[in-house]
Amino acid sequence: METRKLYYEDAFLRSFEATVLSCEESKGGFAVVLDATAFYPEGGGQPCDFGVLGGAAVKDVREKGGIITHTCDKSLAVGDTVHGEIDWARRFDHMQQHSGEHIVSGMLCSAYHCDNVGFHMGADKVVIDYNADIPWEGVLAIEAKANQYLWENHPFCETWYEGAALEAVEYRSKKPLEGAVRITEFPDADRCACCGTHVALSGQVGLLKFIGHQKFRDGVRLELLCGKRALDYLALNQQQNQAVAQALSVKVGKTFEAVQRVQNELLSVKQGYAALQEQSFAAIAEKYDGCGDTVLFHEKMDSDSVRRLCDMVAARCGGRCAVFAGEDGAYTYAVIHAGQDIRDFIKQMNAALNGRGGGRDGFAQGSVSCSAEEISQYFGGVQ
Ligand SMILES: [Zn+2]
Repeated sequence: METRKLYYEDAFLRSFEATVLSCEESKGGFAVVLDATAFYPEGGGQPCDFGVLGGAAVKDVREKGGIITHTCDKSLAVGDTVHGEIDWARRFDHMQQHSGEHIVSGMLCSAYHCDNVGFHMGADKVVIDYNADIPWEGVLAIEAKANQYLWENHPFCETWYEGAALEAVEYRSKKPLEGAVRITEFPDADRCACCGTHVALSGQVGLLKFIGHQKFRDGVRLELLCGKRALDYLALNQQQNQAVAQALSVKVGKTFEAVQRVQNELLSVKQGYAALQEQSFAAIAEKYDGCGDTVLFHEKMDSDSVRRLCDMVAARCGGRCAVFAGEDGAYTYAVIHAGQDIRDFIKQMNAALNGRGGGRDGFAQGSVSCSAEEISQYFGGVQ
């Protein structure tokens, strides 16, 4: 006997009483079948409901051949009347996402003469694929229209069709279907064959926001948030933007310009610093003119600066140049010996000075964990 589907009779039913028809130990718990249920099983892209059934936690709900099986964490007695309570926050969120998806898909598919070719309702967002190259501006125009539709508070309706009546009715993504088919409708927005649960009035979706748009196969993949998810996302963005605005002393609507200004300022400071560094390195290199093999120390710098200083000194000293930048215990190094194979030298140096790194063509870069004295002693010994 097929399970009576209370969620089709009333999508807003949160609790119910039903009789346990069977309960068997199964993978992940106990498989419970009732004569009737308000628990929605996974289907049509909508995840299943969770909740409590006769004191047992419902962890999964599936439908096969019209029979709905609840996976519970405890066994229930066959013949007992049990009380079921669905996790309403989870279900209502699903109804908001699912109904919002209907409205935007109906509007997008009609405006761009395309189909919804993929749909996934994730834990954080809804992902929808369309087989048309819809530009982001077009998506935003539909977003505005869909929100307007929500606020006009249109009633949702559904009708079961069969045979010739089904053939006569027009609906989105129409394909041959057997038996009685449930055609769901948000009037003037979408008409579609669907097995999911929906809000009763479009206003209950609350708010609708697209947050992602990317090319996907021959069309686009869009990311959508509805209801509380959209509000939570916008609240997080507002909080972040407010913090950036305060940090940069600008109005909330001017943060991007302010960030660009700071980036430009940083770039010019970096350029000024690089010019000063170049002068400083040239003065250091001059001191080592013709000195042959050289070891020198510098305060902490980024590895690119260490390499450039080493390069400039190596060009003047006429031998192998080793630069160590940092402090005892943590030095970054660069070693340059033009035209020489220094791989063995670096290997031995790393072993002696607790270091790591390497290179090729007369150049090596890395780090050592030792003191300046140990470095000086080592180079004194090998020179
Ligand atoms: Zn639906």
